[in-house]
Amino acid sequence: MNLILLGPPGAGKGTQARRLEESRGLVQLSTGDMLRALVAEGGPLGQQAKDIMAAGKLMPDSLMVEMIGERISKPDVSKGFILDGFPRTVAQATALDTMLSEKGLKLDHVIEMQVVDDILVDRITGRYTCAKCGKGYHDRFEQPKVQGVCDACGSTEFKRRADDKAETVSTRLEQYHQQTAPILPYYRDRGVLKSVDGMADIDEVTRQIEAVLAG
Ligand code: AMP
Repeated sequence: MNLILLGPPGAGKGTQARRLEESRGLVQLSTGDMLRALVAEGGPLGQQAKDIMAAGKLMPDSLMVEMIGERISKPDVSKGFILDGFPRTVAQATALDTMLSEKGLKLDHVIEMQVVDDILVDRITGRYTCAKCGKGYHDRFEQPKVQGVCDACGSTEFKRRADDKAETVSTRLEQYHQQTAPILPYYRDRGVLKSVDGMADIDEVTRQIEAVLAG
């Protein structure tokens, strides 16, 4: 089964994708994570990605399409994948269709996670993760049980994304509405789009997604 989780930054795509990895053995393909790995490696492309991400803008379509094209050619995606953060433009969506049909693959579901902008700003600006195991926390909504110690692995190191600052978040939301939201009618016309309430609690969102997958 191949899925797209679509929604604005902070909608919970990564959280739900990780749950689907565990429950269904699908592979999460997060273009944001791929780009952050590129930044960590250094090099000219990493530097370009770092600057564009810090500004809250989008990377060029050609590069993103190539990145995903290579990734979905690897054998580990044969059980199915969850695209998280791709496509982000109509050009990426059409290129994805071409790549999938060339590989004899299809999209089973496109799930839109709906969340209003005010909530997204609060969610994004307070979030951080354990530097060791990646468990997510939030300054106001989900602190570790023991202050400064990860509940899952006991690490005392945490990190925040460089682009989760309030100034950058408003540009990221603007980009979503201008560049990414036009993808919704594209998939609606193809009959694969379903929406879930991304403002519900995490377990309820998972239930709604499972209902779409079962339907
Ligand atoms: P994310 O982790 O999905 O929020 O992505 C973080 C940043 O990476 C975005 O704000 C963009 O700058 C860049 N990015 C990730 N995916 C894409 C994509 N499909 N197209 C263009 N830029 C992307």
